[in-house]
Amino acid sequence: MGKIINGTEHAAAIRAEVAKKAIGKDLKLAVILVGDNPASIVYINMKKKACEEVGIGFELHKLPADIPESELIARIAMLNSSTEVTGILVQQPFPAHIDKHTILSYIAPPKDVDCLNPYNVGLAMVGQGELLPCTPAGCMELLQREGIELEGKHAVVVGRSDIVGKPLALMLLAKNATVTLCHSRTKNLAEECRRADILVAAIGSPRFVTADMVKEGAVVLDVGVNRLEGKKVCGDVDFDNVIDKVSYITPVPKGVGPMTVATLMKNIITAWELQKGVC
Ligand code: NDP
Repeated sequence: MGKIINGTEHAAAIRAEVAKKAIGKDLKLAVILVGDNPASIVYINMKKKACEEVGIGFELHKLPADIPESELIARIAMLNSSTEVTGILVQQPFPAHIDKHTILSYIAPPKDVDCLNPYNVGLAMVGQGELLPCTPAGCMELLQREGIELEGKHAVVVGRSDIVGKPLALMLLAKNATVTLCHSRTKNLAEECRRADILVAAIGSPRFVTADMVKEGAVVLDVGVNRLEGKKVCGDVDFDNVIDKVSYITPVPKGVGPMTVATLMKNIITAWELQKGVC
């Protein structure tokens, strides 16, 4: 049976490091929520709780779902120029009339703690990013903290989104893994997955990765968060049946999720340092 990677524990250790660094700094995260998507509210509350725990101020800008794009941009501009705000996060998804790429490009790069402005995305791509996308950076931190060697390993990432799969594939590549990036049009997906020493599922489909798709001894990171009936969630990996084949596996919940929030806290410290010219 593989080792279950305890994301909650690793994330708590990171938050403790952040809390120490936060002492004596005036830090604040501003979150913009457009509309009232229930899942977004859950995610925002998790971020608020983490901010409170590590000593970072938090403010929520709740805007109506039908807000014109120009007003949303004006709010971002106001936060960009505020000396009180260290980090800005615009919670996704956006209503259909809002162009995601336009909005993200307005967040001032040194305050872009989600690393979604194309300028920061580009820096991260060439290995020069100080602010890194939270979920992929959280995955890399888990691998590093567990002492999992990546050089020369075959990593397969299933899912090519801009916030998870694509940046994570590049981060694994930067650590000298040989990377295959799969998506919904990939042929022979199960075969590709079976080749993986490190297998990452970032799909959004409950228990999609089954035991027959996993190589004996592989390391499996499950990024997926799928809401089942009631309040239960499950990942993209069939955890109960896969665990016997792997060397390491992240559970859902308590795996990658807490690392995403902990990395956001780290990014707020980095943003402060960038704005003060100390990094
Ligand atoms: P997206 O919907 O943006 O991307 C999903 C990706 O999965 C796409 O690239 C898609 O391919 C691919 N995919 C979908 N179906 C299949 C299939 N049958 N076979 C192969 N590939 C497939 O999702 P996100 O990247 O934003 O999120 C992925 C999951 O991770 C979700 O469950 C989300 O909730 C979770 N998540 C968790 C976070 C955490 O902190 N734990 C943070 C962010 C996300 P194609 O591009 O071809 O459509």
